[in-house]
Amino acid sequence: MSDEDASGPVDFHCHLDLCQDMRAAYTRCESARCFTLAVTTTPKAFARNKSMARDSHFVRAALGIHPQLVAERASELSLFEELASSTRFIGEVGLDAGRRFYPSFERQKLVFESVLALCTRLGDKVISIHSVRTAKQVLDVVERTGAYRTCVPVLHWFNASESEIRRALELGCYFSVNEQMLQSPRGRILLDTVPIERVLTETDAPFQSDEFGGRYPGDVTGAIRLIADAYGEDHAVTSDRIRRTAKQLLTG
Ligand SMILES: [Zn+2]
Repeated sequence: MSDEDASGPVDFHCHLDLCQDMRAAYTRCESARCFTLAVTTTPKAFARNKSMARDSHFVRAALGIHPQLVAERASELSLFEELASSTRFIGEVGLDAGRRFYPSFERQKLVFESVLALCTRLGDKVISIHSVRTAKQVLDVVERTGAYRTCVPVLHWFNASESEIRRALELGCYFSVNEQMLQSPRGRILLDTVPIERVLTETDAPFQSDEFGGRYPGDVTGAIRLIADAYGEDHAVTSDRIRRTAKQLLTG
């Protein structure tokens, strides 16, 4: 790693374009030297994010089609397909079987399956994946499409059982974790099961609940503390490891 890259936070899943001041959010991540994956929720939002990330050393914009928006935005799938070859970074994509979004679940499955099939074909994508109440179904699609062979799936806020976590590990998945999820029993199971080399930090800003301080992009200090404690490591050592992993995925 060059000196410039050696230290700083990692935010591997946040929504800079949904923050109050998008430009300020991009600038803050860049000046904090935060390796950032700025995910988007609709293909139409990608161009503006990509142009903001253009001169950035630390921030990458990802092309997404969010499962919670598939009901209204499924028609943007063709734009997604057009843009997919122009970026290595995909997200947020995935499945959401929460009560509110269940009505669109069949359509979500079609969209997610076709997105991952396309990524598999193009290869070399880093894919940030949403999986509310769908750990098993998401892994089924990662496996069935072969995305795990040609791309790197990064499971965001992965709320799953130990056996599902083990299955994800076998498929080569990485895990981006935030402070809020790490306070839950399942968050702790995840850290007990996953080797530190597969762990990344995220804020999902602006979506963590206010109870946890409504973390701004790049504010992963609390998450680092919880991860370091779980692995019995010094906070700085944990932070460096995660930095290395993120750098490899974002610049490798
Ligand atoms: Zn998100």
